[in-house]
Amino acid sequence: MSEQGEWRLTAIDARELLITKLEHAARTLRLDRMISFGGSTHPFAEYFKGFENVEAVRRIFGQKTEEVLAKLRVEFTWVRSYMWVSGVDGHLTISSYYLNHGDRVDVYLDLIHELVHVRQFMEGKELFDSNYNYIDRPTELEAYRYAVEEARNLGLSDERICRYLKTEWMSDEDMQRLARTLGVEYVRAH
Ligand SMILES: [Zn+2]
Repeated sequence: MSEQGEWRLTAIDARELLITKLEHAARTLRLDRMISFGGSTHPFAEYFKGFENVEAVRRIFGQKTEEVLAKLRVEFTWVRSYMWVSGVDGHLTISSYYLNHGDRVDVYLDLIHELVHVRQFMEGKELFDSNYNYIDRPTELEAYRYAVEEARNLGLSDERICRYLKTEWMSDEDMQRLARTLGVEYVRAH
């Protein structure tokens, strides 16, 4: 992908993410040349290649995998966050900053997590049910279960999984409870 020192990524290949992950590399995705798209959406499949062949993704959508991924739209935003699924039309929004600077393993697991939300949206589920705290929300727990299962399939340790689960807005107490719910041994992140 490198040409005369200029790095230009046109698509993120699921296999590449997986390989990187297996190497336990903490390198970051680099989408240096990615520009602001001004809120417009793009075909997911144009930027994320090969996800229809990832077993974890097939577990989420079953026989509808190709169809769903072909229709899924993605929006890149400069808002510094991670990624989320719209509760209005089910499209995926991803922070360009996160893609640029986030750990590849985390980005990959987040994609698995968010694709579960895509399916939940299609099923008519309420993604942002405020009757629940974030870490108790059934839709979140289901999404986390898929991500943790995939993390385990890839041989990640409980310590690494905890590092993945921990976000800056989650208290240690919440983090502990979430880990317990998901059957992950809690290891305090440093
Ligand atoms: Zn979620």
